[in-house]
Amino acid sequence: MIHVRKTTTPQLLADAEQTIMHTAVRPGIVMERGEGMYLWDTDGARYLDFIGGWAVTCLGHSPAAIRDALSSQSSMLVNASPAFYNRPMIEFAKQLTELSGYDKAFFASSGAEANEGAIKLARKHGALHLGGAYGIVTMTGSFHGRTLATMSATGKARWQSLFAPSMPGFKHVPLNDWNGLLAAVDGNTCAIMLELVQGEGGVHPADADYLGKVRELCDERGIMLIFDEIQTGLGRTGKMFASGHYGIQADVMTLGKGIGGGFPLAALLVRDRFNVFEPGDQGGTYTGQPLAMAVGQAVVREIVTRQLARNAELMGECLTRRINEVAEAYRLSPIRGKGLLLAFDLPVPCGAELVAACLREGLLINSPHPSTIRLMPPLIVSEEDIDAMLDLLCRAMDTVRLRS
Ligand SMILES: *Cc1c(COP(=O)(O)O)cnc(C)c1O
Repeated sequence: MIHVRKTTTPQLLADAEQTIMHTAVRPGIVMERGEGMYLWDTDGARYLDFIGGWAVTCLGHSPAAIRDALSSQSSMLVNASPAFYNRPMIEFAKQLTELSGYDKAFFASSGAEANEGAIKLARKHGALHLGGAYGIVTMTGSFHGRTLATMSATGKARWQSLFAPSMPGFKHVPLNDWNGLLAAVDGNTCAIMLELVQGEGGVHPADADYLGKVRELCDERGIMLIFDEIQTGLGRTGKMFASGHYGIQADVMTLGKGIGGGFPLAALLVRDRFNVFEPGDQGGTYTGQPLAMAVGQAVVREIVTRQLARNAELMGECLTRRINEVAEAYRLSPIRGKGLLLAFDLPVPCGAELVAACLREGLLINSPHPSTIRLMPPLIVSEEDIDAMLDLLCRAMDTVRLRS
């Protein structure tokens, strides 16, 4: 018989220390429950969440849509096998291709896995149509995942030697540097891969005229253009996909994070012309997993019917206005980004200190760099939530003495 006992927070933290691999520096609290914009820890303390599970929990915490999708699908079919079609898999692929304008979908459980699929697709395209070209140009400051290939694709200098040797075939050039890109593209290039707003890199959007030229270059040379919309997709930037801000479509788009609203799910979408996979090329035990497919459908339906991309646009404007009102008093940079993927810089590199001060005040924010604060709340955020956030943020900024 399993003996269930109510464990106290210090005991839980001691157990964590003893049993969980130390791959992240985590604060000494344990999250227990979530509802809407808030999380609660095991001591009952409440946190207003402007991290949103890392731009993931787009519908907020514990949304009814996910609970209902999981309960009805789990009583129907949990897992058939990746060797069979299942109903929600087909329905979700139809929903996503209609929404995005891409032709075919492959489903995965994480963003890195979707990007691995995109890299494989690019290499196969190069092998078939570009004389064996396998080089992929990606951007400095980009983030594409934590598998070996996606770490090599990621534009972080430190990651090129971590777990060496890195995967060959990746070149990194600065985002929005057209001449740098032209110089990097050569006869061995099969793809260009980029984020339309670099998320982990500190919230830096691509320029419209640069992106137009990238699209033309890819068309001229038959190079595959890959948009990694894992962080920017599904309403996050105020449009259903960030590509909607530019009116430019890629050949391949990857989605993750918000697509599952907190459930592990990702997708690789491709236009027919670049759909070079054949049976055996790509797979995975959990591709098209029925629970994930049912959740994905429910999440995307909610984003569409509740017009959450529009709410992201409006609330992004509201958040920008409110932060800019206090920017001078606290010596903050103007806010940048799109929709609800926003960032501002601090006058001193005290990001970690400010994040800790916010946590003590009951606010969750993220600092991707020592001098940068990133905000990516659930897409359901309201003006009242933003007002509450500003109060907590200003209190925290006072405790770290940011006021001029
Ligand atoms: C988070 C992220 C990934 C990786 O997704 P995982 O689900 O963590 O594997 C890839 N690209 C971008 C742009 C991301 O933000």
